[in-house]
Amino acid sequence: MARGDGNLSHDLLPGEKGPQDSCGVFGVFAPGEDVSKLTYYGLYALQHRGQESAGIATSDGSQILVYKDMGLVSQVFDEASLEALQGHIAIGHTRYSTTGGSIWSNAQPTLGPRPDGTVALAHNGNLINTEELQALIGERHGMPRSGELARGNTTDTALVTALLNTEGPLEDALREVLPRLAGAYCFTLMDETALYAARDPQGIRPLVLGRLERGWVVASETAALDICGASFVREVAPGEMLVIDEQGLRSEQVMPAKPKGCVFEYVYLARPDTRIAGRSVNESRAEMGRQLAREHPVEADLVIPTPESGTPAAIGYAQESGIPYGQGMVKNAYVGRTFIQPSQTIRQLGIRLKLNPLREVVAGKRLVVVDDSVVRGNTQRAVVRMLREAGAAEVHVRISSPPVRWPCFYGIDFASRAELIANGLGIEDIARSLGADSLGYISEEGMVAATTQPADSLCTACFSGKYPVTLPEPVARAQGIITSGEDSSSQDENRSIAVGKDA
Ligand code: SF4
Repeated sequence: MARGDGNLSHDLLPGEKGPQDSCGVFGVFAPGEDVSKLTYYGLYALQHRGQESAGIATSDGSQILVYKDMGLVSQVFDEASLEALQGHIAIGHTRYSTTGGSIWSNAQPTLGPRPDGTVALAHNGNLINTEELQALIGERHGMPRSGELARGNTTDTALVTALLNTEGPLEDALREVLPRLAGAYCFTLMDETALYAARDPQGIRPLVLGRLERGWVVASETAALDICGASFVREVAPGEMLVIDEQGLRSEQVMPAKPKGCVFEYVYLARPDTRIAGRSVNESRAEMGRQLAREHPVEADLVIPTPESGTPAAIGYAQESGIPYGQGMVKNAYVGRTFIQPSQTIRQLGIRLKLNPLREVVAGKRLVVVDDSVVRGNTQRAVVRMLREAGAAEVHVRISSPPVRWPCFYGIDFASRAELIANGLGIEDIARSLGADSLGYISEEGMVAATTQPADSLCTACFSGKYPVTLPEPVARAQGIITSGEDSSSQDENRSIAVGKDA
């Protein structure tokens, strides 16, 4: 059966990608449970973290089986494929590609040989020292003749899989390899007899531990625990390794924790029903909206979200401003399941393929349109145009994150630096470019405060240019990042900019 590539699943405009998460990971150790189905539903809850490919590996204590393919979780697996994945240990993965293209051979979990068996690995994040790791593999193993690299896998995950092929228990291999990795990683992995999980010392991507009556679950988000009936136990700590086998659960702090959780998880990436570091993502987004209203008030008749990601912040904006909240656009919830390439006529409809205005709601109104972020600006421009065509009297755009000016190297694919609308344009120019009557972004301080996390425990690099894990010199130079750690943001985002009607 032909598989889709997921291209229609996430973006409001064809070809206009929003921020893309790098993956979702899941793992379960539960004797007596149907672990492949638990993993299937766990991945189903993590589908928003990657739509390009999905895979599950299971072990019955003596043999690892893996099944993966391109497409959404619901397209990749059926009853028969899940039935074949027997055992009491499983890991799963949903992928959006960062390092390595969107091809079958890069799908995860990866499988690699070990002296005494096999390792299967699923990774959320992105490593920034892949050249160094590649060189180390060359030194230790020479040209790979087996494993993922030999099969043409070009991802950072394949490099880690190859590095884990050392004598001794897998735990020892992890103790040796994890400190060599730079960047963002949350791993779920397994050999024939145990489930393992590990998180980078910064804890950039989320990873949580849950309890089943007969076992344990690890997952990128608490929403994946909820869907399979696991109760939340705690976050996997930054720098921690977990081992779960028939003896129970063991934890080890492999590296000292230096927390720098991704603030963009709160803004957009994580599901609203997930909790990160004890904070509800939905409540963080609503508070960002309230703060946005305090920072950028405007006289208007109606607050509407850009569906769905702008909804909690729009509700917060309406609560704080006292302006009524309404639904001004309807998003087709099922278009993500269509993998038929649109015809040229359909393609020209652009954003209308996914979003349609409610004319009777927006006509004649002064609108506040709340969105979570602006990357290239094409989506917001199309939304403003569509709302004006539907009769809106004024369109004021409010954004619940600061201007995105810097690329992410820790697992989120925004766009190249040159494509970011806020890289080079001031707020007034951006407002003009979007065709909005006014534009206001929340301040970095306001966004961070809404997460209730200490500012120094968060990564804000895509807004501030302050990268918590030093970038290799060639990577930084290629992106025009001259001084890591220096505040590179301009000062004008604390003003909401009104644009003349003739703009
Ligand atoms: S650069 Fe931005 S998206 Fe990437 S980890 Fe940091 S805050 Fe998150």
